[in-house]
Amino acid sequence: MEEKTDLKSLGFDELQDFIKKAGQKAFRSRQLYQWMHRQLAVSFDEMTNLSKEFRDELKDSCMLCSAKIVQRQVSSDGTNKFLMELSDGNHIESVLMKYKHGNSVCISTQAGCRMGCRFCASTVGGLIRSLRPSEMLDQIYEIQRITGERVSNVILMGIGEPLDNYENVIKFIHMLSDEHGLNISQRNITLSTCGLVEQMYRLAKEELAITLAVSLHAPNDMLRREMMPVASKYPISEIMEACRNYIEKTNRRVTFEYSMVEGKNDSARAAEELSWLLKGMNCHVNLIPLNPVAGRLGQRSRKNQIEEFKKILEKNHINVTVRREMGRDIDAACGQLRNKRSTIGLE
Ligand code: SAH
Repeated sequence: MEEKTDLKSLGFDELQDFIKKAGQKAFRSRQLYQWMHRQLAVSFDEMTNLSKEFRDELKDSCMLCSAKIVQRQVSSDGTNKFLMELSDGNHIESVLMKYKHGNSVCISTQAGCRMGCRFCASTVGGLIRSLRPSEMLDQIYEIQRITGERVSNVILMGIGEPLDNYENVIKFIHMLSDEHGLNISQRNITLSTCGLVEQMYRLAKEELAITLAVSLHAPNDMLRREMMPVASKYPISEIMEACRNYIEKTNRRVTFEYSMVEGKNDSARAAEELSWLLKGMNCHVNLIPLNPVAGRLGQRSRKNQIEEFKKILEKNHINVTVRREMGRDIDAACGQLRNKRSTIGLE
C-alpha cells in the first residue's frame, strides 16, 4: 500500500500544488489549510465547506493527525505537562506554561536525542528519529484544543536538538508563523541549540526573526567537554563567532543558557570567566537551576551560590536572569516523563 500523504506537513505553497493535482479549485487550498492550521480540525468530516467526495478522497489518501495527548499532568503552579504519542507509537513531551504575558508551549523536535549531554534525561536512549513539521505543530494544536488556552509563545527546548532536524524545524517555524495558520509571531519563537556551529550559520541566513538560545553551561572548553560531548566537536570560540554572526545578520539578542550544577560550573571564578567571555556582546544569560536526573550528572547548585553567580555577572554588566522554576512537582524537566513511560531504563 502506498504511504498516506502527511497533509499537515505541507506548507501553503505545497498544499496549493497538492490541490491542483487533485483537480480542485485553487481557493480550496486556503480552506483546507485553515481547517488544519487555524480551526485545528481533527477529522475531515468537520471540513464542511469541502465536498463530501473530496473529503472521502482525502480520508483515503491522507493523514490528518500526527500526535495525540495520552497523558496530562497539572502542576500546582498551573504548568501542564503532556505526554504525546506519535502515529508510530513513539512518545514525546510538551509543556504548557502560563505567564502573565501569555502562554508558552515548549515542544520536542525529535524522539530522543543523540547529543548526549551528561545531565539531560532526553538523551538516555539515544535518537530514535526526527519529527516532521506536522508532529511539531500538533503538539501546539492539541494543547490549544484540549485546554482552550491560546498559545502566544513557542520554545523549541523539549526533547531533541532542533538544529539536528534542520529542514523540518525551519519549515515548522514558517508554518507556525504563516498568516493562514496560527500566525504566531516569529519574535515569540525561541530555538535552543547545544551549539551546532554549521547550522547556526545556516540559520542566520534564513531571515527569521526568532530568538536563538545557546546552551553554553560552561565558560571554558575543558569544563564544557565534561558536561557535553558535543563540546569536543565545537570549541567555545567557534560558537561565539557563530553567535556574533547571528547577532550581526539578524539584529537579535542571543540568549545563553547556563544550567547550574553544584561544584561543577557554579564557582565565582566560572562567573568571572563567563563575564569575560561574553563582554560587550548583545546577549542575555539565563541561569537554570539544574533539575537533577537519576543516574545523570550532578546536583543543583544552592540558592545562594546561584545568587552569588548572578551578582558577579551583573557587576560585570552582563544581562542575567534566573529561570523561574515551573512544574517541578510533575517532572516537567527535560524528558523525565517520557523516560517513565518508555522502556528506556535509567540505571
Ligand atoms: N538540544 C537543545 C534543546 C533542548 S534542551 C539544547 O541543547 O539547547 C533545553 C535546555 O535544557 C538546554 O539548555 C539543556 O541543556 C537544558 N537541560 C537539559 N537537561 C537539563 C536538566 N536536567 N536540568 C537543567 N537544564 C537541563
